[in-house]
Amino acid sequence: LPADLYGPSRKNSAGTELGHEESLDALLREIAAAGAFPDAAPLIDGKPQPGSAREVRSPIDGKPLGTVIEADAATAGRAMAAAAKGFRAWSETPARIRAAALRKAADLMEARRGLLIALLQAEAGKTIDDAISEVREAVDFCRYYAAQAEAHFAAPLSLPGPTGEENRLVLRGRGAFVCIAPWNFPLAIFAGQVVAALVAGNSVVAKPAPQTPLIAALAIRILHEAGVPVTALHLVPGGTEPGAALVAHPDVAGVAFTGSTATARGINRALAAKDGPIVPLIAETGGLNAMIVDATALPEQVSDDVVMSAFRSAGQRCSALRLLAVQDDVADKMIEMIEGATRELKLGDPRLLDTHIGPVIDAAARQRLDAHIAAMQAQGRVAWAGQTPDLGGTYVAPHIVRLDKVGDLAAEHFGPILHVVRWKAGELDKVIDAIDATGYGLTLGVHSRIEATVERVVERLSTGNVYVNRNIIGAVVGVQPFGGHGLSGTGPKAGGPHYLARFATEQTVTVNT
Ligand code: GLU
Repeated sequence: LPADLYGPSRKNSAGTELGHEESLDALLREIAAAGAFPDAAPLIDGKPQPGSAREVRSPIDGKPLGTVIEADAATAGRAMAAAAKGFRAWSETPARIRAAALRKAADLMEARRGLLIALLQAEAGKTIDDAISEVREAVDFCRYYAAQAEAHFAAPLSLPGPTGEENRLVLRGRGAFVCIAPWNFPLAIFAGQVVAALVAGNSVVAKPAPQTPLIAALAIRILHEAGVPVTALHLVPGGTEPGAALVAHPDVAGVAFTGSTATARGINRALAAKDGPIVPLIAETGGLNAMIVDATALPEQVSDDVVMSAFRSAGQRCSALRLLAVQDDVADKMIEMIEGATRELKLGDPRLLDTHIGPVIDAAARQRLDAHIAAMQAQGRVAWAGQTPDLGGTYVAPHIVRLDKVGDLAAEHFGPILHVVRWKAGELDKVIDAIDATGYGLTLGVHSRIEATVERVVERLSTGNVYVNRNIIGAVVGVQPFGGHGLSGTGPKAGGPHYLARFATEQTVTVNT
C-alpha cells in the first residue's frame, strides 16, 4: 500500500477551528450570506423531471425550506436506463480524470461551505460543529477516494509470472450503481457513496433519504459542475416507490445502501429475486453499540465520553452509544456524573452556537422515540429525563434508561436515549457474550486501565469500530475506516483502503509473450 496514501503523513482537510475567533467570524459570515436553498427534482441526463411536489420543512421549527419533486417508479426506471447508457463513456474516461473531478468537487464544497452548512443545519437540524465536521468528511471522502483511484485504477497492477508470461490485474467500474443514502449524514454519506462509485468507473443513480433531498440536490449540482458528466450521474429523490424500482431494475450493477437493517434485508431479497447477473450489495446498517466500563476506568473521562457518544448529534448516528455496561462497584458514581453532565447539555435551535443537541429528524422519529420512552416509563425504568423545549420543532430530550441485562435492549432506538446495565466483578465474559449475542457489530467502547481486560474485549468481540478509553463516534476518513459486521452491514469500510475495490470488477490478464 502506498505510504503517502495510507501512512501517517496523509492529511485530511483542515476544517474550521470554532475556538479561533477570526475563523469562526468568517464562517458565520459565510453562513449568513448563504442565500436561498436550491429546490430538488429528479435529474436524468441533467434534465429536471416531473413528479409529485412536496414541501421540505425544517426539523428546527417546522418552517418550509423549499420544494422537492419526488420521482415515481417510472422515472426511477428511466434514470436507471440513462445510467446504463452513460456507463461506457464514463468507465472509459481515464481514472485520473475521474479523480480530478472529485478533487474539484472537494474544492467547490470548501468554497461553498457557508451554503452547505446552512442547509445541513436547516434541513437536517445539525449543530454548527456537526455541520462543519460533515462538510469536512464529504471533502475528505472526495480527496481520499480520488487518491485511491489514482493509485489503483489508473494503471493495471503488474503481477509476477514465469518467463514468457505477463500478468496484470485491472480494476474497472461494474456498471450502473444505485446509491441510497440516509438522512443522518445527508452530505457526507450521500456524497461518499456516490463519489466512490463514480471514481471507480461506475455511472450512478443517487437516491437521497426523503427527509433530506435539498442538500443532495446541491451535492449533485456541485459534482456536475466539477466535471462529472450529467450522463454518468442521475438523481432520484423520493421514498420507497422509486427506491424499490431502482433496485428491481434489470440494469443495476451494484447497490450501496446506508440505513436500517430491515431495509438492507429487503434490498438483498429484491436483488436475489432478479434474473441476470448476481448484483452485489454494500450495506452499512445499524448498531446496538455498547460501552463496557470497569471499576478501573477514569470517571470524568467516562462521563464525557458517554455523554458525547450517546447524546451528541441527538443520538442520530449509527455509531452512537445505545448501551452502557458499567461495573456495579462504580456504577452509582458514574451514573451520577453522567446525569450531571447531561443536565448541562443545551437542547434547542442548532443554529445557536451554544446548542449541544438539535432536533431529531422529523415527527415520525420523535413519535417512535417518545413511544419507547413512554414504554420505559411505564416499567419504571427511566432513571433520568431531560426537558424538551417547546420550539415548534421535533425535539427529544436526552433520557437515561435502566435495564436489567444487555438482552433487554431489543432494538436500535435512533435518538438521545442511553440504556444502562450493571455487571458484577467476574461477569465480564457474560457481558461480552450478551453483546455478541445481539448480532450487531458496528461500534464498541471499552473503558478500563487494565490492559488484559481491554484485550479480552477486543479479541472476543469482532465489532467493526472499537474505541478504547475514548468516545465512540466521529470516525475520520482514512483514520478510522468505518463500518461493521453481522446485522450492522456487509462492509467494506467507508473511508478505508478496501472500499473502492468493492465498487469494481477485477480482471486478470495473462499474456503469453
Ligand atoms: N461515521 C459516523 C461516525 O463515526 C457514523 C455514520 C453513521 O451514522 O452512519 O460517527
